[in-house]
Amino acid sequence: MPQVAADSDSLRRYLADEKGIALSALKGVRVLRRSIDARQRTIFVNLKVRLYINEQPTDDGYVHTNYPVVDDAPQVIVVGAGPGGLFAALRLIELGLRPIVLERGKDVHERKKDLAAIARTQVVDGESNYCFGEGGAGAYSDGKLYTRSKKRGNIEKILNVFCQHGASTAILADAHPHIGTDRLPQVIEAMRRTIIQCGGEVHFQTKMTSLIVEGDCVVGCRANDKEFLGPVILATGHSARDVYRYLAEEKIEMEAKGIAVGVRLEHPSLLIDQIQYHRKEGRGQWLPAAEYSFVTQVDGRGVYSFCMCPGGFVIPAATGPEQVVVNGMSPASRGTQWSNSGMVVELRPEDIEGDDVLRVLHYQEQLERTCWLQANRKQTAPAQRMADFVNAKLSFDLPRSSYAPGLLSSPLHFWLPQPIASRLQQGFKTFGRQAHGFLTNEAVMIGVETRTSSPLRIVRNAETLMHVRIQGLFPCGEGAGYAGGIVSAGVDGERCAEMCAAWMKGERRSG
Ligand SMILES: Cc1cc2nc3c(=O)[nH]c(=O)nc-3n(C[C@H](O)[C@H](O)[C@H](O)COP(=O)(O)OP(=O)(O)OC[C@H]3O[C@@H](n4cnc5c(N)ncnc54)[C@H](O)[C@@H]3O)c2cc1C
Repeated sequence: MPQVAADSDSLRRYLADEKGIALSALKGVRVLRRSIDARQRTIFVNLKVRLYINEQPTDDGYVHTNYPVVDDAPQVIVVGAGPGGLFAALRLIELGLRPIVLERGKDVHERKKDLAAIARTQVVDGESNYCFGEGGAGAYSDGKLYTRSKKRGNIEKILNVFCQHGASTAILADAHPHIGTDRLPQVIEAMRRTIIQCGGEVHFQTKMTSLIVEGDCVVGCRANDKEFLGPVILATGHSARDVYRYLAEEKIEMEAKGIAVGVRLEHPSLLIDQIQYHRKEGRGQWLPAAEYSFVTQVDGRGVYSFCMCPGGFVIPAATGPEQVVVNGMSPASRGTQWSNSGMVVELRPEDIEGDDVLRVLHYQEQLERTCWLQANRKQTAPAQRMADFVNAKLSFDLPRSSYAPGLLSSPLHFWLPQPIASRLQQGFKTFGRQAHGFLTNEAVMIGVETRTSSPLRIVRNAETLMHVRIQGLFPCGEGAGYAGGIVSAGVDGERCAEMCAAWMKGERRSG
């Protein structure tokens, strides 16, 4: 029953009663696994628990990692302080190396002021925004920590490191763990403190502008007119278009990669709760805001929901001028009146004419600029009611929305690229049939969602994780095309650190 599982006291009382144990003897209950089964009218919270009878739990409930002091150790340059870069830096310390982290944006607290200013000024700071700054695209995000990756051990390590830096141990038990955008900044700050206390360095407002290459080997990079020497873990994320352009100019091997493109779809959260929990009153007092996940195929391409944020906000995720891009996030409570998700259509490199390696990136740029023009050259996003979109009808008015810079009624069915618009229309009809009430004019589509993943892959050796040609360069995380989400970027960061350490050891031996 949801009300029993809702807090530790009621769960303890229930278990003592159920098992016939005196309440005073049941010293503790640890939840090891938690999931919600809402397939039927009666909703169950499934728990796997460990009971502490006449003994207290002796540990913190997570696995500690030991971080040694690395003051005098050889250094590695980590470019980017997103989850890829931060987990690479922490793993380097574990392996006895000294990370020097370079981040173009500001620290996680200063960054927050620039995010708040977007709605007020309608201007995005090109170096400090929802994608750039300490914590990367993962900081002011939803903080969902689930991944489709199957390597459970690696995932658990990432979750445990988050707990060591202040995240709730509930993330180790929940089937769909979530930290929340209000809690993530403190966790990220604590990770930075570990790096610095161990002898590493973190430099903000320090943008890498070029690599230092000798022969076919990277020996460092330049940032703010300074040189930073050491092998480079390049974890600059999917929005660092200047980095992709630089790499293309330097003929550093990359390949175009597929992405997904579409809109953010926002419903009243009560409506989603009613649909998913099959009851008029919605989630009620004891259940969390409901999630959904849809997927279908239309004309040979996937159409699916992406990065669902129950009880969240739609946010402006542009990284420069003349762009409107949206994304979603939610606080730990998931308590807002809205639930949103990306609704996107698969786009493959072969769907775009030409063989320019940057063609998917150009497609993103063009669509984001169109959206900005539709938005009267502001961050006010073009929007359309969902059923109006399916019926190719301009919305007369728009519902209230969580999107702070404001919405503008616009015929998305008309100006979105036809292969995207028509597949979304078909997809919405299918989803509306699967979930009665989902296809409704109470929902609003907000344009455009284009930063679903990296438009390029920086080609690396599958075993050494080093660039295929350039020694000492480790393309890492989402921007390199090897991760999609906070946890998978963290896992990739750790692996790159390990491979970099192994390569340095080999170099020292041969040198
Ligand atoms: C609004 C939003 C919500 C999201 N919600 C979720 C979620 O709930 N769950 C989830 O799993 N994923 C979510 N994601 C995706 C997730 O944030 C990314 O997959 C993840 O952050 C990728 O990590 P990364 O370290 O590879 O790159 P990023 O996080 O993008 O970090 C790259 C860093 O490199 C820095 N950088 C770029 N260029 C340079 C340069 N030249 N010099 C120095 N520094 C540079 C950037 O400023 C940035 O801080 C969300 C993304 C957004 C934008």
